[in-house]
Amino acid sequence: MSTTPACYPCAQEARLPDVPPRECVARDEHWRVVHAFNSALPGWLVLLPRRHVTAVHDLTDAEAASLGLWQVRLSRALRTVTGCAKSYVVQFAEAEGFGHVHFHVVARMADQPEDRRGPAVFGYLGRPEEEWVSPERADELAREIGRALA
Ligand SMILES: [Zn+2]
Repeated sequence: MSTTPACYPCAQEARLPDVPPRECVARDEHWRVVHAFNSALPGWLVLLPRRHVTAVHDLTDAEAASLGLWQVRLSRALRTVTGCAKSYVVQFAEAEGFGHVHFHVVARMADQPEDRRGPAVFGYLGRPEEEWVSPERADELAREIGRALA
């Protein structure tokens, strides 16, 4: 398994299983799910390939085979746990230090403000740290989502 030292997902992957629930909501052979550490919105999941890949076209057929299942199952679990109206699934992998492919799977609540819908949902990231979902709450959500997936 190749890793990039400056890559946050790979650094966390190397620490498994010694990570808090928010860093491993669920996993299988190819994918790991985390709760975003820097989101002001509860229920912001990130689906990560377990090896360092920086473009979707470099995923293997085996990785691709379960990708859709993960996206849909995580969306169902988010609905069960948060009561969201729908979910967003987004992949860019463009931010500095975050070139590792990652699919955002994000709860879109019924009462989500208009100016936080669609691409503007990213306004929930990069908020001041005091607005982030606390590590304790993210762990709690991770356990609930893990149970909903089971
Ligand atoms: Zn990586």
